[in-house]
Amino acid sequence: QKKQSLVERDRQNVWHHISPYSEKNPPMVVEEGKGSWITDHQGKRYLDGMSGLFCVNVGYGREELAQAAYEQIKKMAYVPMTQSHGPAIELAEKVNEMLGGDYVIFYSNSGSDANEVAFKMARQYHQQKGEGTRYKVISRYRAYHGSSAGALSATGQALRKYKYEPLTSGFLHVAPPDNYRKPEGMSIEDYNIARARELEETIIWEQKETIAAVIMEPLITGGGVLVPDPVYVEKVQEVCNRHGVLLIIDEVICGFGRTGKAFGHQHFNIKPDMVTMAKGLTSAYLPLSITAVRKDIYEKFKDGKENSHFRHVNTFGGNPAACALALKNIEIMEKENLFNRSAEAGNRLLNGLDDLRNLDFVGDIRGLGLIIGIEIVEDKLTKKPASPECVGGLIAACKANGLIIGKNGDTVAGHNNILTLSPPLSSTDDDFDFIINVLKKVFHEKVN
Ligand code: PMP
Repeated sequence: QKKQSLVERDRQNVWHHISPYSEKNPPMVVEEGKGSWITDHQGKRYLDGMSGLFCVNVGYGREELAQAAYEQIKKMAYVPMTQSHGPAIELAEKVNEMLGGDYVIFYSNSGSDANEVAFKMARQYHQQKGEGTRYKVISRYRAYHGSSAGALSATGQALRKYKYEPLTSGFLHVAPPDNYRKPEGMSIEDYNIARARELEETIIWEQKETIAAVIMEPLITGGGVLVPDPVYVEKVQEVCNRHGVLLIIDEVICGFGRTGKAFGHQHFNIKPDMVTMAKGLTSAYLPLSITAVRKDIYEKFKDGKENSHFRHVNTFGGNPAACALALKNIEIMEKENLFNRSAEAGNRLLNGLDDLRNLDFVGDIRGLGLIIGIEIVEDKLTKKPASPECVGGLIAACKANGLIIGKNGDTVAGHNNILTLSPPLSSTDDDFDFIINVLKKVFHEKVN
């Protein structure tokens, strides 16, 4: 067996997430990483312009993180969350402080978990308040919220449609603002207000007494980097407040500096009822997620009645090593000023790529902090999304030049045409220059 190549053994034994599986371009077998660079098993190096999957915020190979997990495992490897431990308490305090106070922290293992927890809490909360069964959750088309039953039902992308229906009932979707494709002649502000108004109409028509929560990301990330006008987010909060609907903000990607602030929603004047987070919490070195819940909501579960307990057992949630590592990860981000770096570096990338806007197949370049989307179209006039072959060709050319980038959007309506950049926040100036130079080279070669 050893004689077979790793790629061949991988092909035979490992079922990968990607689809469709490509025999011509099989998954890379990655051996190690340092900073923003990863090395495959044949020694070829790539700059990871996606931080894995929008998550390795402090970069690869951080000894301090390995050390923090190692020390904690030696001391105490496991404590179920029916009890408690120092790292869980300290991390809860730290995250609460980063959110501006007033939250309690519920631990789980993944972004999907954190969202499931939020949906269950929101439903039970309304019952605790004596409001009866408010059970519906509204999210947006093009958003991704996870792969488990509820989180997949909240997801507004084509993948929820593939073969897994019927999904959980009670999940509704509204359209997000897509400022690049707004109606001709309408101002961005009016368009964003209209989108928030559609949400309110949905709540009214569905009857607010049936709606538990709205979930949204500060900006749609995986669905194609759709950055809203602030007026939209603020109106959504107003609408939720007006109808007694909880607002859950999914910070699984945007959290921990990705957008240039600790949390993406801090770009706007809102105070969410719940905030879910995962990926950047540990920079993906270990699995850990959080559902942060406003204290006044938590209090409603504390009336001492047996039936008021929130029931959600989670064996690995709040794992001590993961919490200790998360604390160290946040310490590194603060020490290295990575949230500000993300904002500055994002602008540097946008400026560096500005010339590419003139190319006819570049419809739009947009972003917030270190999440940037480049919308590839057939031509600027029609804005017709470019073909999968065209988008795939650009990604392959970047890879051949040592740069890994992503593709996002959604296959519904053929909008799977947004190249995505989300490098580690710790990337060096040389790394950013490398990204800009490769993209310029690849885009100009496509023209010639
Ligand atoms: N929410 C968002 C916004 C995400 O991008 C993701 C993962 N890509 C999730 C939730 C689910 O997280 P996980 O894969 O850890 O379950």
